[in-house]
Amino acid sequence: MLGRAVRLRCPVCGTGGLFFQPGHRFRLGLPERCSGCELRFDREAGHWAGSFGLNTIVSFTALFAVLIVGLFVTWPDPPAVTLIVAALTVALVVPLVFAPWSATLWLVIDLRMRPLEPGEAATPSAPSPPPDARDH
Ligand SMILES: [Zn+2]
Repeated sequence: MLGRAVRLRCPVCGTGGLFFQPGHRFRLGLPERCSGCELRFDREAGHWAGSFGLNTIVSFTALFAVLIVGLFVTWPDPPAVTLIVAALTVALVVPLVFAPWSATLWLVIDLRMRPLEPGEAATPSAPSPPPDARDH
């Protein structure tokens, strides 16, 4: 599931192109349902608060990393304007760029905490047993 999420695919069935509308226009959020397994991505009210939280954690980590590394490298004469511009750039770009991954990664975390219930998705994530195992 994690590998599928990193590749921006449905964690349950692996369907790709989740962030592209017909005509290949990029969308910021996930669609309501997966076109492959019919999983409702917004699994419960407030589901996306976790996605926003994950995005916030990653963005602030990147922001602090830029500031700390910038100060460490340029000490004792840190260029204030350069550091502020770098920090603002990170603060604006990282949340937007990471948004698709925060949605799919949070979905994986949510699926690990609350596994799929019967009928929630058409295709189970577990591989089907080999044909000879079903005969016994
Ligand atoms: Zn799916």
